[in-house]
Amino acid sequence: MLHQRKLPVCFVLSILFEVIFYVSARHVMPYVPDVLHPPVPDHIESFNLTQDANGGEIDPEMTPGLFQGDMALNNDLYNYWRVGIKWDAFPEKLWKNGIVPYMISPLYEPTEQVTILKAIKTFNFMTCVRFVPWDGKTKDYLLIWPIKYPKGCWSFVGRFGGSQIVSLQPPDGSGPNCLGSEGRAIHELMHALGVFHEQSRWDRDKFVKIHEENIIPRYKSNFDKQSLDNTTYSFEYDYDSIMHYGKHFFSKSKSKPTITTKMGHTKKIGQRKAMSKGDCLKLNDLYGCLSNSRTKRKYYNLCNFMGI
Ligand SMILES: [Zn+2]
Repeated sequence: MLHQRKLPVCFVLSILFEVIFYVSARHVMPYVPDVLHPPVPDHIESFNLTQDANGGEIDPEMTPGLFQGDMALNNDLYNYWRVGIKWDAFPEKLWKNGIVPYMISPLYEPTEQVTILKAIKTFNFMTCVRFVPWDGKTKDYLLIWPIKYPKGCWSFVGRFGGSQIVSLQPPDGSGPNCLGSEGRAIHELMHALGVFHEQSRWDRDKFVKIHEENIIPRYKSNFDKQSLDNTTYSFEYDYDSIMHYGKHFFSKSKSKPTITTKMGHTKKIGQRKAMSKGDCLKLNDLYGCLSNSRTKRKYYNLCNFMGI
């Protein structure tokens, strides 16, 4: 059973200060077109999924039709991806010193801006990564924007360079909602920091069963896993990860799961509520926050206390 511990008062207050600081800051308005063409690796078919097989609502991360649903990825990176980007192969994808400038689109409603800021504050609190409001000059920054096409929630993986879109679609009655809580924003920002989906680990077959027969055929490649050559994992397989697909992602029908657990005691797979302890440790590890003894203790304690 998932269980999120109560947020400490200092964390809640710090979110409030972040919101006040952000809202009071002045920003230059960049031009962002309605339609973008994020990269998709050559042999990955790109399809926009607008309805599931039963005509029901589909997950907003499945809508964009990018690599594994929501990741903008080119051929180079496709050959070297792992659960976290292999920094040796792609040092330029790392946000230097863990500093990530960001700007939130003024097109969002205030409540939606608060949801995004809550996600940002979570990273600033639980990891040594630092999201800072864009100063209008720094070349590389995240531009969090409700892109009209591809619809849904999607992101590049790692630092892409220049104005880097993280698309989070607000609720509009019928379209995908990426801002029901801060969980979806955390998921896409984790991609932007260089983290892939948990179920793509090379060792995942020990922990989950993929039901190929239940996957919509053209989305089968979304369930590919990565070879050990490009992969290192410091932490155990994490069913609770905010980066794990849900049980019915890309399924032909709601009664047909595409992923089930091989561990009898684990019922749930994936969630979009909060960073799990594993997500928290993984990200801290990826950005070197666990490499000195003082910060290692601090972030281990935070991940243990705050994680799911
Ligand atoms: Zn994703």
